[in-house]
Amino acid sequence: MRLTVLGAAGSYPTSTEPGSGFLVEADGVRVVLDLGPGTFPRLADEIPIHAVDAIVVTHGHADHAADLLAWYHASRHGIPPRASVPLFAPGEVIERVRGFLKKGPEELAMVFDHREVDPGDEASVAGVALSFGAVVHTVPAVSVRVDSSGKSLVYTGDTAPSADVVDLARGSDLLVCEATLVDETVPGIHCSAEDAGAMAKDAEVGALLLTHLRPDQDREEAIAAAGREFGGPIAVAEAGLTRSI
Ligand SMILES: [Zn+2]
Ligand SMILES: [Zn+2]
Repeated sequence: MRLTVLGAAGSYPTSTEPGSGFLVEADGVRVVLDLGPGTFPRLADEIPIHAVDAIVVTHGHADHAADLLAWYHASRHGIPPRASVPLFAPGEVIERVRGFLKKGPEELAMVFDHREVDPGDEASVAGVALSFGAVVHTVPAVSVRVDSSGKSLVYTGDTAPSADVVDLARGSDLLVCEATLVDETVPGIHCSAEDAGAMAKDAEVGALLLTHLRPDQDREEAIAAAGREFGGPIAVAEAGLTRSI
């Protein structure tokens, strides 16, 4: 399994760091996790969009979902146009996209084969298993676990500290965990880096990749804060970073 970070900025992107987005490649299957602002061109630089087997969008906030709009236009107007892609997402994600584009259900369905997901749901993409878990956030949202050939990673999307995330991540090889602020939990919305370290410890994961740091947060301080809880390898996600799992 291979992870490529398309973008990891929390809340808003910068000129060098797109919003949240990850490409997971496992056993020849390619799944995109979130398409935040600026991640679409990064993705298109990595692989043709025709090679993407499925998209997961954890929730409808713009820093995770905005480039579904870019995907829509590239799919409709690219040469050749691409067929409808499975989109695993909470129900309101497609409603937000539809509202912005002002397109009818039929036109949306030409681009997105929406598979509504709720916490507890499971799915398979050509043998790669997806499991969706509950999070603590302000809108309908899920975390996602990807399992393939005995390897696994868990991506939290956005969440405050959550026992459900720990359960989903238990024993996984890599936890990609949001850590919006270094020292400060945002109650009911976001984790701190220390919270991320505590969840990684409780879930006994192999390694921790901090993501969704707000652009003004110090990376080294974040790693140190997470390291007060978690004794395994810790790094901070940034666009272009790859990991073999
Ligand atoms: Zn976010
Ligand atoms: Zn959010």
